[in-house]
Amino acid sequence: MLTPLACCIVPPYVLARIAEHPDAPEQARISARSTLGLANTLASVRAAIVPYEGRWGGRRLDRMIYDCKNTRIVDMEHARFENELAVDDASVNRCYDFFEAIFSFFHVVFGRNSIDDRGMSMLGSVHYGENFSNAMWDGTQVVFGDGDGVYWNNFSSLDVVAHEIMHGITQHSVHLKHQGESGALDESMADVFASMFKQYELNQTAADADWLIGTEIFTSRVRGDALRSLKAPGSAFDDEILGKDIQVASYDKVLTKSCTDDFGSAHIHFGVPNHAFYLFAIALGGHSWERAGTIWYAALTDKDLKSDAGFIDFATLTIKHAQGYGDSVAAAVIEAWKGVGINLD
Ligand SMILES: [Zn+2]
Repeated sequence: MLTPLACCIVPPYVLARIAEHPDAPEQARISARSTLGLANTLASVRAAIVPYEGRWGGRRLDRMIYDCKNTRIVDMEHARFENELAVDDASVNRCYDFFEAIFSFFHVVFGRNSIDDRGMSMLGSVHYGENFSNAMWDGTQVVFGDGDGVYWNNFSSLDVVAHEIMHGITQHSVHLKHQGESGALDESMADVFASMFKQYELNQTAADADWLIGTEIFTSRVRGDALRSLKAPGSAFDDEILGKDIQVASYDKVLTKSCTDDFGSAHIHFGVPNHAFYLFAIALGGHSWERAGTIWYAALTDKDLKSDAGFIDFATLTIKHAQGYGDSVAAAVIEAWKGVGINLD
């Protein structure tokens, strides 16, 4: 049985800074405080709910988008279901369109049939809460807030939607524990495949891509390009109010850093596997999803990947699957992991 998880795109330490910063506008501080509280509430509420038993689309895409009407109730009002016409709500339509693109990407590139590989319907709820400054996978569906309008825009942007859907795919593949290195791996899978998906949509090579996640969620008030960078973890933002991106890209820093209020630092440490994927994709050249992505997907769906897997367990599986592509590809993945301080020679 699956235990639903609440996997938010914005790490708690960023919201905590806004909540406590004396120079942040009152509206933003209230939003940050309530977002932190609501995310915890939603996580515990959903943890009590049985796994998904709703509609299945078979081998066809089946989308169900709901409008929370700024309440804390997901699935509140039917907004747009499969084959229905566009509605007068950009968040609903964006979510509906991105779901199709994500479904198609995983189907065409990896042969996957929706989130659970059994044709599960794709559910999303937009306009969650009042000024909710986050997006999350709640164990069954993707939930989006509208942002506080001060530092955060609406969260239904392409890479954020893909990041959250990927939490569902990971949950149905291995159900990584959301703590320590396994929690960091869960977050990394979400970023790696979201970045890959964005590159696929833009038809970019690994060398051309920006490797950023969350490029549209900051308002112009924030000093930063995005929420995270796979190319240069720790460099995505540096803002007086939000603070600095503190992701690490080297395994020795994982072993020395700790932050107990962030699911065992999952949001900080996953810069390590993120950057390993970046190094690997760049070394191979071409499109990231073609070889590097296929190897990462094979490792994620390998039955030997356990729910408490650490970085070394995952890295070992990527080497195993890279060997199917020849010695030079296997050597490249070993080098990529070495580049983040994980030596598996
Ligand atoms: Zn996440």
